Amino acid sequence: MADKHRSPIESGCPDAFQYMHPVMRKNYGAWKYHEHPRPGVLRHVGYSGDEIWTVRVGTQRILDIFTLRKLCDIGDEFADGYIHFTIRSNVEYMVADEAKVEPLIKAIEDAGFIVGGTKNSVTMISHTQGWLHCDIPGTDASGVVKSMMDELIDEFRENNMPNRVHITTSCCQINCGGQGDIAINVQHTKPPKINHDLVSNVCERPSVVARCPVAAIRPAMVNGKPSLEVDEKKCICCGACFPPCPPMQINDAEHTKLAIWVGGNHSNARGKPTFQKLVAAGIPNNPPRWPEANAIVKRILKAYKEGAKDWERINDWIERIGWPRFFEVTNLPFTKYHVDTWRGARNSLNASTHIRF
Ligand code: SF4
Ligand code: SF4
Repeated sequence: MADKHRSPIESGCPDAFQYMHPVMRKNYGAWKYHEHPRPGVLRHVGYSGDEIWTVRVGTQRILDIFTLRKLCDIGDEFADGYIHFTIRSNVEYMVADEAKVEPLIKAIEDAGFIVGGTKNSVTMISHTQGWLHCDIPGTDASGVVKSMMDELIDEFRENNMPNRVHITTSCCQINCGGQGDIAINVQHTKPPKINHDLVSNVCERPSVVARCPVAAIRPAMVNGKPSLEVDEKKCICCGACFPPCPPMQINDAEHTKLAIWVGGNHSNARGKPTFQKLVAAGIPNNPPRWPEANAIVKRILKAYKEGAKDWERINDWIERIGWPRFFEVTNLPFTKYHVDTWRGARNSLNASTHIRF
């Protein structure tokens, strides 16, 4: 046995302080107040008297190296050489001198990017990895984002909403998923179709059986070969069996749809978390511009903009007016798909982070 063990490699987040603007580093935890001089710009003032301006820029999130270089060059030339990404893939530049703000905004806009996404706007839509990294997607979540941001670009640039709106998209309904004021998620509408000739060569059957959240998959012998079978009455069409066993094909052009959920919100100092609820199902998964899903999102935003009081988030607004009124003002049909009749609903209805048994 070796005398000296190799030290473990930690691969967590690097120390953020090394990348911070010096004014931020100096005033860390000692900010007096901040204000919002115009959409896309924040001004923070520290107890030390230091000031820093942050300019927020929308990106397409999946960035090629040339775009990244361009964004970094703008940071070097017009900001103070610092750049950071927010969790919704906005880019933020920081400058310690107010005179640099306007030239920076001009350089950003001349390069084709947009400034906005602060305060009561529709900020960058976040999406899950989709076809880039993952093995289950039923659509390209990033494509939905691009088509939707093209339609909502003015809502990003301006502050017209009652409060901030977080929109998310996700390409399956079970994993990294989307939790937001409005979430556009994939919805499979049929159980997987099994190619029995391939299962024994490709799939590790116990892993696939273990993967199913509702125990709908059983080992079976088909045509003398080991395979799997699905109890279709139990299957919730989640798609979790597809990654460990691609012969269990679930995506297809006809049965893979989009669904829209609204009202999801994380807990904060003032409120408990709220869970998003399904408001539109069976929407065509229609690339490259997803016009049907876009039209419904715009309809929900219009009703929210017209009906909500100042500072109400979408979930607050719906709670105040009630779900029947929500369906009326958004002109969305209330169908049998909105009623949770699944046999495990008694548990799922209670699945919240603040209820304990
Ligand atoms: S939402 Fe689902 S399909 Fe999309 S990246 Fe996440 S796990 Fe994969
Ligand atoms: S789609 Fe989901 S519920 Fe249906 S068999 Fe596969 S893992 Fe189970």
